Amino acid sequence: MKFFATATAVVAGAIMSTAAWADDIVIGVSWSNFQEERWKTDEAAIKAELDAKGAQYISADAQSSSAKQLSDVESLIAQGATALIILAQDAQAIGPAVQAAADEGIPVIGYDRLIEDPRAFYLTFDNVEVGRMQARAVFEAMPKGRYVMIKGSPTDPNADFLRGGQQEVLQDAIDKGDITIVAEAYTDGWLPANAQRNMEQILTAQDNGVDAVVASNDGTAGGVVAALTAQGMEGIPVSGQDGDHAALNRVAKGTQTVSVWKDARELGKAAARIAVSLAEGTKMNAIGGADDWTSPGGTKMSAVFLAPLPVTKQNLSDVVDAGWITKEALCQGV
Ligand code: BGC
Repeated sequence: MKFFATATAVVAGAIMSTAAWADDIVIGVSWSNFQEERWKTDEAAIKAELDAKGAQYISADAQSSSAKQLSDVESLIAQGATALIILAQDAQAIGPAVQAAADEGIPVIGYDRLIEDPRAFYLTFDNVEVGRMQARAVFEAMPKGRYVMIKGSPTDPNADFLRGGQQEVLQDAIDKGDITIVAEAYTDGWLPANAQRNMEQILTAQDNGVDAVVASNDGTAGGVVAALTAQGMEGIPVSGQDGDHAALNRVAKGTQTVSVWKDARELGKAAARIAVSLAEGTKMNAIGGADDWTSPGGTKMSAVFLAPLPVTKQNLSDVVDAGWITKEALCQGV
């Protein structure tokens, strides 16, 4: 690894001024499931910011395999990564990758999903708040009734952060007997097809006696809406998150109630900035904007949390104004 890094530096030094020495900085990004629409936006933002800083981008996609992600990280290290940004497929299984990076003195950012290790910087949105926003929007649309909770991947800590926020909002109504959670299911790999299959099975088991669905992201919401549509039940409240274009179209159409929007452009930009600073030797707790944070499991970490925004039919124009989607693209599904 050292060999590659030095070789790059010598070549760069021969043709560039010393101001461009950030070329020594190679940021390796390990994606877990690049097929998900949002990660392409995150990637574009990371690349743009690294470009602006004169740093190099290398990446790998684990394609939802935690085993592949470990060899991906090894390979990013072998290619000369001087800092790593990791979107962990499996919070438990990623441990050896963090260890391998630590052995080489390479800093790690747990990107969007918690890697519970004090050696990893944690950069994400406030996922508990995302869960609250999802449940709040569904609850406003359906204050009484039979609820289904479609959770995220069981290997992604975000799934339970979201579920925790959702429960906080619904608890009073559950205690009063206004709301009953009739079923809940994790979604393996966050895959829409798995969410659809779970929802189909729940509808069958409940004899279609379902009034609202708190789905944890837009991909799973898509699976849920497909299952509802097959039963002529589309239009009951359904939540999501990510501001996927298909989901925003469902919001416009009325088949999805809310998509909690997390501006992935901001997260990607922040990740590139932090990764370069860490690669340059800045200590985690000296990163601009970093707070001390203690995980629910008691691990003390340095973290940055960005704020999410719920998008319903009422404020769809906010995402158009923010340049996230064009008016034309928004009208496609309507
Ligand atoms: C992210 C979501 C995303 C999901 C599936 C979660 O960890 O926070 O934005 O939809 O993973 O990729």
